[in-house]
Amino acid sequence: MSLGSRPSLRRPVRKWGGRPAARLIAAALALYGDRCHLCGGSGADSADHVIPRSRGGPDTLDNLRPVHHRRGPRCNLRRRSMTMQEWRDRYGRPGPDPLPPSRHW
Ligand SMILES: [Zn+2]
Repeated sequence: MSLGSRPSLRRPVRKWGGRPAARLIAAALALYGDRCHLCGGSGADSADHVIPRSRGGPDTLDNLRPVHHRRGPRCNLRRRSMTMQEWRDRYGRPGPDPLPPSRHW
């Protein structure tokens, strides 16, 4: 995995929050777009750890993907510390086509 391996963004962040997290979220959204990596829908407003922090996942751009946090289906809150495998077992994987924005929030 070499995506986003620029040194300035690889500094480890002890706690997820505050300005370092906000910078990484902004960078992840700029790099990957606003398509949620969990449900495949657009409108992602945060970044999710592909490998959860609780399982040793780093705070680096290659471990972060756009996710719905406070918008749409709030995928990030549903996932909590599930691995991607656990998530897919429960919810399936995103489809290949963009989904229309959901309107139920
Ligand atoms: Zn989503």
